[in-house]
Amino acid sequence: MRETDAIAEARRNLEVCNACRYCEGYCAVFPAMEQRREFSPVDLGYLANLCHGCRGCFYACQYAPPHEFGINLPKVFAEIRQESYVEYSWPRPLGRLFERNGTVVSVAAALITALVMIGTALFQSPERLFGTHRGEGAFYAVIPHNVMVLLAGSTFVFALVAIAISIARFWKEAGGGAGPVGKPFLKAAHDALTLKNLGGGGHGCNDRDGSFGMERRRLHHALFYGFLLCFASTNVATFYHYGLGLQAPYGFLSLPVILGTVGGIGMTVGSAGLIWLKIVGDPEPVSRRLLGADYAMLVLLLLVAVTGLVLLAVRATPAMGITLAIHLGFVLALFVALPYSRMVHGAYRFAALVRAAREQH
Ligand code: SF4
Ligand code: SF4
Repeated sequence: MRETDAIAEARRNLEVCNACRYCEGYCAVFPAMEQRREFSPVDLGYLANLCHGCRGCFYACQYAPPHEFGINLPKVFAEIRQESYVEYSWPRPLGRLFERNGTVVSVAAALITALVMIGTALFQSPERLFGTHRGEGAFYAVIPHNVMVLLAGSTFVFALVAIAISIARFWKEAGGGAGPVGKPFLKAAHDALTLKNLGGGGHGCNDRDGSFGMERRRLHHALFYGFLLCFASTNVATFYHYGLGLQAPYGFLSLPVILGTVGGIGMTVGSAGLIWLKIVGDPEPVSRRLLGADYAMLVLLLLVAVTGLVLLAVRATPAMGITLAIHLGFVLALFVALPYSRMVHGAYRFAALVRAAREQH
């Protein structure tokens, strides 16, 4: 991690917190902070990724704005998290390109969608593109199966490799060296999968203002598990195709469609709800320079989910071809943006949780 304005500001904040320690029971950040007297950029990258942005310390703090100390940990940690995604990104030039995330994500989504649609239109006759296709292999009458697998498979593998390299870089620099892995790993996995910290010990987070609520935790659950169900749906569909020789589209009561429908509804509710929370929430503990990126990513997730559900509804109509092209375009854009966006926070936070559990151990 490099020395930046956000790093200097976080250091100033934590030096006050380390003297005060009022919030030490609030989250994993404070016990980890108390083990340090000085804060290097690497330490601050680790602590920022340990923070889950609940805002509890902001509303509890007697030194928060308008106090002259202006302590605002959720805001400065959010900025450092975004800097860490760029700093450890692979390939780094792409990470820097995504630094102006909101604009780039939107433009990338639009360009990729446009390219898929133009490609589809160029390779298919209007009769095929706007025709009604039913039965096995109907989707592939518009976009050939091999083209779909090549496009989606290559962008997905790229996203996985980019995230793995980026997390390995983060872990190498901020992972805390040698030490026990088993127990800390299990504890971190439990905390991450249950989003335990967003529960705030039972009363929830400060989702909108100083009052407590569970909305953010529930919406994160809906988005996270919705995404996993859609991923499971794709894997089951791949098994149907290659293992059982059955081609999509599958029946409404088939396993891939049930998983995809429930997952799509979860993603729609989660992303739309999180957009709503951003709109109605207190802007003070939020970094304005990250707002565009956050909105762009949530809107992209919403578009992926909604176009997937629309595709299910119109798959036996002439609108199927163009809807399929648009949905595929948004999915590809999501995969390309994934390693550089806020979505990668889950992986960074998991690594930070393992390190925190090791330090406690
Ligand atoms: S956030 Fe404020 S109240 Fe909490 S430990 Fe820091 S200075 Fe103290
Ligand atoms: S915002 Fe929440 S998670 Fe982040 S440091 Fe404050 S209390 Fe901890």
